[in-house]
Amino acid sequence: MANTNNAWDVGSVHQRLGVTPIINAAGSITRLGGSRTRPETLQLMSQAARVMVNIDDLNRAAGKELARLTGAEAGFVCSGAAGGLVLQAAAVIAGNDPVKMRQLPNTDGLKNEIVIHTMHRFPYDQAYRAAGAHLVEFGDYLFAHPWQLEGAINERTAAVAYLVAPFSSNKVLPLERVCEIAHARDVPVIVDAASMLPPRANLYRYLRDGADMVVYSGGKGIRGPQGSGILVGRADLIEAAAAQANPAQFLGRGMKVAKEEVIGLVASLAAFVEEDEAAEMEAYRAMVQPVVDALVELPGLRVTLEHDRVNYLLPQAAIYVTDDWRGPSRDAVLAALEQGNPQIHLQTLAGPQELAVDPLNLTEAEVETVIRRLREELTRQG
Ligand SMILES: *Cc1c(COP(=O)(O)O)cnc(C)c1O
Repeated sequence: MANTNNAWDVGSVHQRLGVTPIINAAGSITRLGGSRTRPETLQLMSQAARVMVNIDDLNRAAGKELARLTGAEAGFVCSGAAGGLVLQAAAVIAGNDPVKMRQLPNTDGLKNEIVIHTMHRFPYDQAYRAAGAHLVEFGDYLFAHPWQLEGAINERTAAVAYLVAPFSSNKVLPLERVCEIAHARDVPVIVDAASMLPPRANLYRYLRDGADMVVYSGGKGIRGPQGSGILVGRADLIEAAAAQANPAQFLGRGMKVAKEEVIGLVASLAAFVEEDEAAEMEAYRAMVQPVVDALVELPGLRVTLEHDRVNYLLPQAAIYVTDDWRGPSRDAVLAALEQGNPQIHLQTLAGPQELAVDPLNLTEAEVETVIRRLREELTRQG
């Protein structure tokens, strides 16, 4: 390959590959790039990539740091939250018994059932099945009662899984109640809180509610390495998870985390914990307020700045189409933005009549472009 001076300039690499950068106003969506990694993290990673270390020692030391930062007994840097879910299941099914560990994902004869709210079934729960878990649902699509959870737990139960995510149902049993019921039967509770940071309070909350292991994404709101994750919790379970992860040649070996990613994740979490959340949120608010100001007077739309810390983890500009709206449909606007130049992706999680601009991955220049394109498409005459 010709090695011209600018061969590794990212713009020219994208161009050579035929990959066009997009504007991601949708938040920390993996398919749209995840999040912008902290610059100081990237600098550290480029140094750490060139220093050889014993990976077991590094993993242990990094785990201690994650534990310190989250108040957990122990921690482990996993390959994204999804990789952490596989390790959670492997840990509760096989412990650190090498005979059982080698048998995975075949779980014949092992405690292999993971109990989960029907309302918590979601595509990522395949990660539990990847370790050989059988999912046992309780409750229905609208309700769940304590007796249903009690009835689903038996001598084959390895854990109860619990999902915390924006827009997941609030009709589920509270985590504290689930932990009470599971612990009374000596069953651990494993939590997926992948996208719940910030707010920082969520770093401590689920363990305090009784969870035995919690997983967070490293590549979402904390802006660590995109391929990293945080697994924290009970020391024996974390030890069992680590025993099956890279560099050990067990089930988790296919989910390797590079040494520089381990360092990058720890540094990112430390920086995240130290940041002033009020100032951070104020900066995000200032970023999306111009979107509200630019669109608020369009008749038939309701445009507001929203910061509901359950559903919207960051302040967002939310655009609601009301009955009085006479312009193009929400989906037509979305499609036009996604197919335009540059491609712009907005957040659509909140419902069929709503759009939101999430500031996580935007620069100020990109906000200007989003405003210009939104105005163009919203005021387009059919
Ligand atoms: C994003 C997400 C994951 C996957 O996280 P990665 O770090 O990308 O592997 C898993 N569970 C939930 C609920 C998520 O939102």
